[in-house]
Amino acid sequence: MKTLQRTLAIIKPDAVARGAIGDIIGSLERRGFRILSGKMLHITRKQAEGFYAVHAGKPFFESLTKFMSEGPILVIALEKENAIAEWREIMGATNPANAKEGTVRKKWAESIERNAVHGSDAEDTARFELSYFFAGYELQ
Ligand code: ATP
Ligand code: MG
Repeated sequence: MKTLQRTLAIIKPDAVARGAIGDIIGSLERRGFRILSGKMLHITRKQAEGFYAVHAGKPFFESLTKFMSEGPILVIALEKENAIAEWREIMGATNPANAKEGTVRKKWAESIERNAVHGSDAEDTARFELSYFFAGYELQ
């Protein structure tokens, strides 16, 4: 069953630094995503820790939050039918070594950590993540 969904995409610091913004947004537009809102942010370590709180305690948490605060990111609010699963499909596997040809991570990711993009993984996490970076009036 198809349902209209919203999801959060992030173009991570590695991909912004490598000039991948245009290519990644192009992929979203070609697949018919509606871009509700977007902003360039350089988040603090604390803000990265808050965003990735579900991963607190994991061995890669410190390194991940340091990476996510090392430079600017582009946070994007997206809308489409089945947006959550479809954006994750376009992103490809977390580890670029396992990412399929044609996916964003296959093309742009450097490693399992520096993997170019983020996408929400479920409706409840999408709601939390969108509200972490956007106010209600920014998502119309
Ligand atoms: P994201 O949440 O960024 O969309 P994901 O859902 O594919 O990616 P998660 O398991 O939620 O992956 O991990 C969040 C992020 O933490 C990954 O995107 C990656 O940057 C980093 N990460 C995940 N696993 C590892 C690992 N084993 N070593 C280093 N970094 C990791
Ligand atoms: Mg995840």
